[in-house]
Amino acid sequence: MPFFIVFHFYKGKIMRAYNFCAGPAALPTAVLEKAQQELLDWQGKGLSIMEMSHRSADYVAVAEKAEADLRKLMNIPENYKVLFLQGGASLQFSAIPLNLLGKNNKADYIHTGIWSEKALKEAKRYGDINVVEAGIKVDGKFAISEQSEWNFSDDAAYVHYADNETIGGLQFAGVPDVKAPLVCDFSSSILSAPLDVSKFGLIYAGAQKNIGPAGLTIVIIRDDLLDQAKAEIPSILKYADQAKNGSMVNTPSTYAWYLSGLVFEWLLEQGGVDAIHKVNLEKAQLLYGYIDSSDFYNNPIAIPNRSIMNVPFTLADEALEKQFLKEAEANHLLNLAGHRSVGGMRASIYNAVPLEGVQALIRFMDDFAKRNG
Ligand SMILES: *Cc1c(COP(=O)(O)O)cnc(C)c1O
Repeated sequence: MPFFIVFHFYKGKIMRAYNFCAGPAALPTAVLEKAQQELLDWQGKGLSIMEMSHRSADYVAVAEKAEADLRKLMNIPENYKVLFLQGGASLQFSAIPLNLLGKNNKADYIHTGIWSEKALKEAKRYGDINVVEAGIKVDGKFAISEQSEWNFSDDAAYVHYADNETIGGLQFAGVPDVKAPLVCDFSSSILSAPLDVSKFGLIYAGAQKNIGPAGLTIVIIRDDLLDQAKAEIPSILKYADQAKNGSMVNTPSTYAWYLSGLVFEWLLEQGGVDAIHKVNLEKAQLLYGYIDSSDFYNNPIAIPNRSIMNVPFTLADEALEKQFLKEAEANHLLNLAGHRSVGGMRASIYNAVPLEGVQALIRFMDDFAKRNG
């Protein structure tokens, strides 16, 4: 097997592989290094941030700075609260209907893949859910249908969708235009591209794809939606209670919150979301362009709905998959196996995966195809 120089040496000493994991995913090396520097003695206080009370002035300042930086990055309007919660995006599948279904108990859920389906299945426990089927095939490729074909109900309390289906690699080309408050799972695409937050009632995302480590979930909610929860729901799940308490109804995930704050600082240093979006587009165009030019690899998604974060692909011969993964790993290109439910390959190219990582992946893929095609 040929050996490529695809390691990236960080400051000449530590070898960091390129990590294409779908989640928990790559984090910027510079962020991990800062966290390492501060690990034993946070800013001269003689203790780690993990050992600090979440109510201490020092920690609250860290938490507030993270929120302020996220507000800056996403241009979040004043009339939205930003919550730093636990339970992953999956707990929001329940928290959202419990908080937002309101009096008539009805919501529309757009179905495009595995994550939007999980969300609607949970919601069905609590209310009358109208499923809007939007997944179609165009010339044999998976796609999302035109909005004019969607059957919304007249009196839904909200419309839910998942911007980017992480497993399928299927992404909305734009933001749906709906009457009811729009609720969106942005777990695998938050901060990857500019977004007009004012179009949404609620945005949520598990942190472990494009924000920080697992254990933190961001919820961005418009003020007028805070007080619609049924009285009997647990206060930890109640957005109004979390908002009133600065996301500290109980002990929050303090280290994940802190580390996510370091990622927000890093993103601002990169030039913010507009700048990282340009790099993301370049990465995605390179990888899709290579796959399209090859007879050996195939991507199953119609061009307008290709995800810029998760790129699934298959090899001409399924029997070569194990060998592909083994050789990729030997070349320090990690976690390229597709989700267990769909198989094939998937390269997740989140914000923290550098352009050089995608270039190294393409060099490897090309060499592998030449030797096995
Ligand atoms: C990963 C993912 C989830 C699940 O996140 P958890 O934090 O593990 O609950 C939900 N939705 C999307 C789009 C995801 O990518």
